[in-house]
Amino acid sequence: MNLILYGHDFHYEMEALCRLFYPLQPIHVIEKGSSLGEQSEDDPITAYTGIHPENGKIKLTASLQIGEKKETAEDFFHAKDPAFFGDEKERQLAVLLFGLLEKACGFTPRWGLLTGVRPVKLFRRLTEAYGEQKASQYFREAYLVSPEKISLASKTMHREEKILAQNSPRDFSLYLSVPFCPTRCAYCSFVSSSVEKTMKLIPEYVELLCKEIEAAAKQAEKLNLHLVSVYMGGGTPTTLTAQQLDEVLSCVKRSFDLSFCREYTVEAGRPDTITPEKLAVLKKCSADRISINPQTLNDRILEVIGRRHTAKQTREAFLMAREAGFENINMDLIVGLPGESVESFYNTLNTLLEWAPESITVHDLALKRSSRLYQEGKIQEDAAAASVMLDYADRVLPENGYAPYYLYRQSRMVGNLENVGFAKPGFESPYNVFIMDESQHILGCGAGAVTKLCVPQKSGQRIRRIFNFKYPFEYISRHEEILERKEQVGKLS
Ligand code: SF4
Repeated sequence: MNLILYGHDFHYEMEALCRLFYPLQPIHVIEKGSSLGEQSEDDPITAYTGIHPENGKIKLTASLQIGEKKETAEDFFHAKDPAFFGDEKERQLAVLLFGLLEKACGFTPRWGLLTGVRPVKLFRRLTEAYGEQKASQYFREAYLVSPEKISLASKTMHREEKILAQNSPRDFSLYLSVPFCPTRCAYCSFVSSSVEKTMKLIPEYVELLCKEIEAAAKQAEKLNLHLVSVYMGGGTPTTLTAQQLDEVLSCVKRSFDLSFCREYTVEAGRPDTITPEKLAVLKKCSADRISINPQTLNDRILEVIGRRHTAKQTREAFLMAREAGFENINMDLIVGLPGESVESFYNTLNTLLEWAPESITVHDLALKRSSRLYQEGKIQEDAAAASVMLDYADRVLPENGYAPYYLYRQSRMVGNLENVGFAKPGFESPYNVFIMDESQHILGCGAGAVTKLCVPQKSGQRIRRIFNFKYPFEYISRHEEILERKEQVGKLS
């Protein structure tokens, strides 16, 4: 697809909008009058957005050409709307292009023009500024969000508020990254390394991760911060052996005061990595919440997506965790998996409801171009089915005592939908809420981890980020630099 821009620099928004409708197509962006991009002559689809002065006014134009057929929409720029946080010209131009794409593709994205990761955060900012009724109206009329998604944003916002109200400026969360998995799922684009190739790196990784945890603890102490949540993610942290897990989690216990901690989560994502020994280590080291992720309970689909476990193994892992005393278990599902029917998803969700974990997170499959599914041409996007599945989850989970408490979106999701965490009252993960709201310090340790510090300013707050190297090999070979970067934490208050 060619995307031509003229007289504006809304490159990011216009491209994101085109991607809602053409998630897998390469988009060639051409800025008229600049040297950016080259038009692909072979591509049958060309979108144009331009801003031109005309008779003392500002004219906005969008057009969409598919083969020989071309449609155009025009409008004049209206007075600035005070409720809008960005550039109103950008929004009005997006409305024109959205209308053309919607008509050509016969599909209306239910989040309308919104392409960002955190729609609930935007909804809250509008609510704080203008009240919830106006925020809803603005979502509907300005961003073209569907009533169902506005209702979801509102419910999620109210649930989040209770958790955010507990936050104090001296609180922080600790994130531990273990970017290893037993095998790579076919839909994954994560930097996670398969242990088949990188098993030999793990012992050194564990040792250096402990050093970084100790360094982070010193910085937290310097700033007089209180640790309120620990989240060990990945990857699949339970790829580590029981002994390696013990090394890392004992180091956390030694290095930090856990008495303020409201949550200690370990992602035990792949059921085939869970053993009674590992669960005993987690318990011993104070982890109180784990995530066991079936994604689906359909064995045929599990095979297609390259997960080397069965529904039966998931059930066994769940019972094993209950047996080990875990009373706060999350389970992740994905809608939009290739070949999965609506009925199959209903069966999976209904079975999970019988098992009754404390929280269920429903993800919409993200169509990643670096995933094996994409590379092998096996992605089949069925936006309508994914939408029906999410609607079912939005309906039956609340009927069974779960409420949405955090929500985020990614680019290239099937049908441009969302990921939603549902939890029984009192079992929400504060970490998930804080990471979405970006209102709490997070000290990240491990490959790919990002430390985020909320630095107060006169006009609100600014987030300072300190990045770790992404890949385990770099993390190990350049660990001195990682420790130097950690030193910056204490200087940033
Ligand atoms: S478990 Fe998660 S991180 Fe690991 S390969 Fe699968 S999708 Fe990727």
